[in-house]
Amino acid sequence: MSDNWKPATKAVHAGTRRSQYGEVSEAIFLTQGFVYESAEHAEQRFIDSGDDEFIYARYGNPTVKMFEERIAALEGAEDAFATASGMAAVSGALTAILKAGDHVVSAKALFGSCLYVLEDILGRFGVEVTFVDGTDLAQWEAAIREDTKAVFFESVSNPALEVTDIEGVAKLAHAKGALVLIDNVFATPVYSRAFEQGADVVIYSATKHIDGQGRTLGGVILGSKDIIRGTVEPYMKHTGGSMSPFTAWVMLKGLETMGLRVRAQVASALAIAKAVEGHAGLEAVKYPGLEAHPQYDLVQRQMGAGGTVVALDIKGGKEGAFKFLNALKVGIISNNLGDAKTIMTHPATTTHQRLPDAQKLELGITPGLVRFSVGLEDEADLIADVLQALDCVA
Ligand SMILES: *Cc1c(COP(=O)(O)O)cnc(C)c1O
Repeated sequence: MSDNWKPATKAVHAGTRRSQYGEVSEAIFLTQGFVYESAEHAEQRFIDSGDDEFIYARYGNPTVKMFEERIAALEGAEDAFATASGMAAVSGALTAILKAGDHVVSAKALFGSCLYVLEDILGRFGVEVTFVDGTDLAQWEAAIREDTKAVFFESVSNPALEVTDIEGVAKLAHAKGALVLIDNVFATPVYSRAFEQGADVVIYSATKHIDGQGRTLGGVILGSKDIIRGTVEPYMKHTGGSMSPFTAWVMLKGLETMGLRVRAQVASALAIAKAVEGHAGLEAVKYPGLEAHPQYDLVQRQMGAGGTVVALDIKGGKEGAFKFLNALKVGIISNNLGDAKTIMTHPATTTHQRLPDAQKLELGITPGLVRFSVGLEDEADLIADVLQALDCVA
């Protein structure tokens, strides 16, 4: 591979390892273990297994390695560790890096499971977490201390689509020696320049845009060779959250088409957000690519596009939202995102159900909020579907 290749070329070729048969499509090495030629060879592998040598699939596997090298090349990271799910990546990165007594500053607007890890789990192991409004640099500055070990945020929050300034927070964190960990799912690898902007660790749920077709769960942790092989890998390989070779193969093939898919989804998302703006059935439409989004300038600077998810605040609260959801003919009601199929989610009663009402409101999760993940269907069909469903509410 050449470092000068453009992303589309890397997405198709980076990381490819061919067996002696010269297969065109990447092979699935569906094997748990690897045979050693002798007892001495086995002993040697456990002392130092090189980049092209494997011991056990929980530690690494040729198909998984291909996925790790391809996504690392795309993201501009030195290295990557693939995980069983996005949450294995989020919880694995945090627990690999942190220990009892450490202090973390986190944005409070997070995906439900991320919030559970930060709010409930880390505290049980003696990690102190301070929550801030991720959009407010003054709050980050006030909360980051000399002894802060790491900061964590979703660059675009799920589901309220609040955007955190990566460069701004990274400057504040690095001034105090804290690591910057970013859950970058909503930005997608296609629009990410997170490492250039100051990230130390970037995390994706590969379940979303990388698979992009609703088949498998997966995740990935990206960073320097030091962090990935020195800190993340020892933790992940011994605790068991590794990606399966079959999943890695699905994700490799997903990366080949991700750029085309995500760009089409982003174009439709912008067209839909514009088409519904001002509709009588809506309290508000929130989309980072709309000029009306309060952080439009930051979005353009940081990602250059608004992403594949639109947030619709439907009139009439929960009742209005349910009427809207039940009237859809193309969009389906489910809770994934980044899929080829357009998927609608009502966070207040599903992904964020467990939160108290006051906390939901604080996170922008109103009773009428619908998270609208734009798929690959015809844009005109999607616009017609949403408008007719909104007409049922208005
Ligand atoms: C979906 C999601 C996750 C979790 O990913 P899984 O693959 O479902 O475990 C984490 N963070 C964000 C922002 C997500 O959207």
